[in-house]
Amino acid sequence: RAKDGGRGVHSPYEPALLQKAEERRAIESALRNALKKGELHLVYQPVITLATGETAGFEALLRWTNPELGSVSPDKFIAIAEETRLIDTIGEWVFREACNEAASWPEQYRLAINLSAGQLRNPRLSTAVISALSRSGIAPSRLELETTEAILNNDCEQAVNTFEQLNALGVTMALDDFGTGYSTLGFIGRTNFNSIKIDKRFIRDAQRGSKSSIAIIRAVIAMADSLGVATIAEGIENEEQYAIAERLGCSQVQGYFIDPPMNAAAVRSRIGGTDGKAVA
Ligand code: C2E
Ligand code: MG
Ligand code: MG
Ligand code: MG
Repeated sequence: RAKDGGRGVHSPYEPALLQKAEERRAIESALRNALKKGELHLVYQPVITLATGETAGFEALLRWTNPELGSVSPDKFIAIAEETRLIDTIGEWVFREACNEAASWPEQYRLAINLSAGQLRNPRLSTAVISALSRSGIAPSRLELETTEAILNNDCEQAVNTFEQLNALGVTMALDDFGTGYSTLGFIGRTNFNSIKIDKRFIRDAQRGSKSSIAIIRAVIAMADSLGVATIAEGIENEEQYAIAERLGCSQVQGYFIDPPMNAAAVRSRIGGTDGKAVA
């Protein structure tokens, strides 16, 4: 061990850092076995059409519960899955699982699945999606892929190819967390998005009276409307936020105030899906 001469020089391995590195390593090694140990499952959060109050579809959200680590948030483990490329197999599992589940729902319900930037760099992705669709038997037009603007910034040729291939089959795209990155309004027009999910921060700030947030939401909705792009307000947590989304003219809403994410059985009992999965 290097001497620091007792002058209190900070080692790069300070306790906090060390703890973080250890936590990361623990997550990484547990994540390697999570799939085959059956520790992953999906929950589904309803997306509601404001004009009718009806459920338009569900967003699949990944959950991981490990005996030692407890339940780990996707914001934490997806980043690690990306760095280790575990995201490819986990992502393919998500597609199979969610498409099989959606096959048990009445056909009018759409399914949204999140895609991380790393997944879009995988040249095998479109093949995996197509195979999940055809094995489950669900129509490609029921599937919407949610992705953030981060993927569209640079070296996105692979992502664009994947999008085009899937789009040609009828799969649609949603721009997730809109407003958290660098996208401009013009960006919405240049790409082939079916919907834009306005990040929860905007509605929260609008409720707190932020004039600029309200102006931004209005501008996004006006632009989206004129392009025939749907707008989804994410993270609606109370009645006032719901009313703001409605007043500003969002087409759809999603959030704890309306419905939390629920397990597959709860979805089926709510919408009257068939018992058991279409594909075992
Ligand atoms: P996201 O796609 O923006 O998903 C919305 C997140 O907001 C979810 O967090 C959801 O549980 C949460 N949420 C829903 N309603 C409310 C609300 O009213 N208030 C607040 N504060 N939050 C609400 P979750 O499930 O922890 O997922 C976090 C992120 O992890 C997702 O953000 C998505 O980017 C990513 N993710 C989740 N599942 C998957 C997956 O299967 N594949 C990939 N690649 N990413 C996933
Ligand atoms: Mg999403
Ligand atoms: Mg989002
Ligand atoms: Mg997000």
